[in-house]
Amino acid sequence: MKTIGILGSTGSIGTQTLQVVRENPDLKVFALAAGRNVKLLEEQIREFKPAVAAVWDERDAADLRSRTADLDIRILSGMDGLKEMAAMDGYEVLVTAIVGMIGIGPTVEAIRAGKDIALANKETLVTAGHIIMPLARQRGVKILPVDSEHSAIFQSLNGEAGNRIDKILLTASGGPFRGMTAEQLEKVTLEDALKHPNWAMGRKITIDSASMVNKGLEVLEARWLFDVDLDQIQVVIQPQSVIHSMVQYEDGAVIAQLGTPDMKIPIAYALTWPERRPLAGDRLDFARLSSLTFMEPDDTTFLGLPYAREAGKIGGSMPTVFNAANEKAVSLFLNRKIGFTDIYRIIRSNMDMHQVVDEPSIEEILEIEQEVYRRIEEAYLK
Ligand code: NDP
Repeated sequence: MKTIGILGSTGSIGTQTLQVVRENPDLKVFALAAGRNVKLLEEQIREFKPAVAAVWDERDAADLRSRTADLDIRILSGMDGLKEMAAMDGYEVLVTAIVGMIGIGPTVEAIRAGKDIALANKETLVTAGHIIMPLARQRGVKILPVDSEHSAIFQSLNGEAGNRIDKILLTASGGPFRGMTAEQLEKVTLEDALKHPNWAMGRKITIDSASMVNKGLEVLEARWLFDVDLDQIQVVIQPQSVIHSMVQYEDGAVIAQLGTPDMKIPIAYALTWPERRPLAGDRLDFARLSSLTFMEPDDTTFLGLPYAREAGKIGGSMPTVFNAANEKAVSLFLNRKIGFTDIYRIIRSNMDMHQVVDEPSIEEILEIEQEVYRRIEEAYLK
């Protein structure tokens, strides 16, 4: 029996994690946390019977308490509630499927309490990798990647301990706008950007995939997870999303992980590692798969990746600025306040303005995030 907590249980990764739980009777849910979707959370509570649940707003918590008054469950709220939940005894693995930098605080608490982390939330390592990775080592905690690319790299490293790797080949579909010119990109709409060719995901990550910011965040995350230099991570466009990523060793051998674009595969692997379990779903049919194509990313038109690399090379608090500026810009784009390429302009201007803080603490990271949010709100929401 393995007990889990899920931060972001009502989202894309959260609901797929619960689907994996349904298929594995020895996985038990101890804690669930969500943002605003109280109705779905109540359904999940009734089905999975966790001991504790958390929502962001205290009014939603009060609503949830009255909805679940017939059940034996504690309902918490706010950042304090998320942190308290993360640190509780009674479960072993925390799935961090919350969107945004809000995930950092509870993740740190969970690591301090000795929980393994099934990591989906990218922002945690992008902004605080220098704190999280040493802390995890110190507490003997495993960070198990959920993101399909990082899971693929993790799987390609299986059984290779001690063998030196040459580079990581991180694959990308290129998103819905692959092949467009900078002029064409200026004119794309929100609806166009939300149409990912291969993966069904939350809205924010879908926009990040279209801008290649998502791939930039993944490069910054991979560097911490696998302890490699940024220059050892090469992004390769593989439009069919069949190869989820690869590792090249120093003898020239390349090991890859392939599969259908189904997030339940990496989620289940993170929860049952090192074991593999039966999982329902489509299988790759190589006879029908006529070709796999590869190309270099277009870093002149899609600025998400080069900006991320620049932020990573500068280091310190710059990845926080890259991430926070993108987070706010994407929210403005989702609310139709700015155009798609304004996302790049907002990231650029915020990175240009920033005075880097070396080795920022969690408090400094969150302060810088708020400072970036404020600056963008003042400029765009007057
Ligand atoms: P979604 O937008 O689908 O879900 C986000 C979840 O976070 C929801 O459950 C939401 O709750 C919850 N949430 C938001 N704000 C708060 C808050 N203040 N307090 C508590 N819970 C909150 O996102 P995804 O599932 O797509 O992505 C989650 C993370 O995983 C992201 O960091 C993403 O980059 C990463 N990821 C996602 C992949 C995917 O395939 N979707 C693949 C790889 C990584 P509610 O809906 O109730 O408001």
